[in-house]
Amino acid sequence: MDNASSPGQPPLLPDASTALKQFRSSGRGAWAQVPDSDWNDWRWQLKNRVTQVEQLTRLLPSLTPEERAGAILAGQSKLALAITPHFFNLIDPEDPDCPIRRQVIPRLEETETAPWEMSDPCGEDGHSPVPGLVHRYPDRVLFLVTDRCAAYCRYCTRSRLVSNASGYDFHPEFDRQIEYIASHPEIRDVLLSGGDPLLLSDDKLEHLLSRLRAIPHLEFVRIGTRIPIFLPQRITPNLCSMLKRFHPLFLSVHTNHPRELTTEVRDALGRLADAGIQLGNQSVLLRHVNDSPEVMKALVQKLLLCRVKPYYLYQCDLIAGSAHLRSTVARGLEIMESLRGHTTGYAVPQFVIDAPGGGGKVPINPEYTLARQSGRVLIRNFEGRVFEYPEGTRPAVQLPRGESRASFDRD
Ligand SMILES: *Cc1c(COP(=O)(O)O)cnc(C)c1O
Ligand code: SF4
Repeated sequence: MDNASSPGQPPLLPDASTALKQFRSSGRGAWAQVPDSDWNDWRWQLKNRVTQVEQLTRLLPSLTPEERAGAILAGQSKLALAITPHFFNLIDPEDPDCPIRRQVIPRLEETETAPWEMSDPCGEDGHSPVPGLVHRYPDRVLFLVTDRCAAYCRYCTRSRLVSNASGYDFHPEFDRQIEYIASHPEIRDVLLSGGDPLLLSDDKLEHLLSRLRAIPHLEFVRIGTRIPIFLPQRITPNLCSMLKRFHPLFLSVHTNHPRELTTEVRDALGRLADAGIQLGNQSVLLRHVNDSPEVMKALVQKLLLCRVKPYYLYQCDLIAGSAHLRSTVARGLEIMESLRGHTTGYAVPQFVIDAPGGGGKVPINPEYTLARQSGRVLIRNFEGRVFEYPEGTRPAVQLPRGESRASFDRD
């Protein structure tokens, strides 16, 4: 961001998060010799991902013994190691607690499972009428497209199937998934996820979207993806012009730290937004990554600069081996309080817990209602000042069915 002041004007007083909001390129790092045509090619980025412990040791001399051990064990038992060169370059090699590093480099702690942790914390398999489809809410379904991602997040809630390191052997059957949606007229919303749907080729994705759009009762399609962050090169003009044929199309990205929003990522998100795609963001509250008001405020404001509306902030699911990355609900609430009223309303996500065992997303909010009794509501604002809102100032009337109190009171 350009923070320079004009001559003769006092310098802008940067708030604490200004530095965090600066846009930088991921740079080339260890890949300085690679020609642009390769670097900017998403297939090259995928082929050249960091997937081996030896590569990691070579590229990151400050690798700790815990990380080294974690990387050796990861692929064998849990979730594969993979990091795109683009994303790898965001790691600060000098900082053992680097927020980027913690998200993608395995650690030995991943092998420790607390008694309350699970391999399917949101109870998805139990709500799956056909393989690869989760039907939990009345009018919408989660449609798993693939078990592969451009890079793997160590806290992934779907690590039981994603990357197939634990042998889940996920084989989505699009025919059966589409048939189920077609035969359930109550489904008006499909969320494509995985794994990462944007790893499919343009042709495969186009075919899938066409088949979904051919279902008359389907109103709304959205894609959950971390590709714009891990692999912005994938967001080609071709992909964007294909996607825009399937409106209304929403897309939720997954960003946790403002440093992930590089110039490349901002431009990729801009291409999607220019194609008319509504962009939202989902973040996971992660210990030492983004569990501070300062980092989160910088993240949500920087997302708006990228034309992305912060959608959800998730309390980290109870996925096995994630204790070292999990923050507390109290911390999440403190962060929500630091945002609401203190920054643009559009920048404020909804904090949720995905109820363990399969209850769906439950909103968790700071308490702004102090009391509600006999015709008055006592509320506090973002500064802690207390206000009273009187209700029932008119004599109680019997409302006809379908009329709301509000529509009566305003006439
Ligand atoms: C998150 C989720 C959805 C979408 O929920 P929204 O609140 O509409 O974004 C749908 N199905 C499942 C199983 C989910 O986990
Ligand atoms: S991109 Fe999403 S699905 Fe893939 S590893 Fe990360 S959290 Fe899991």
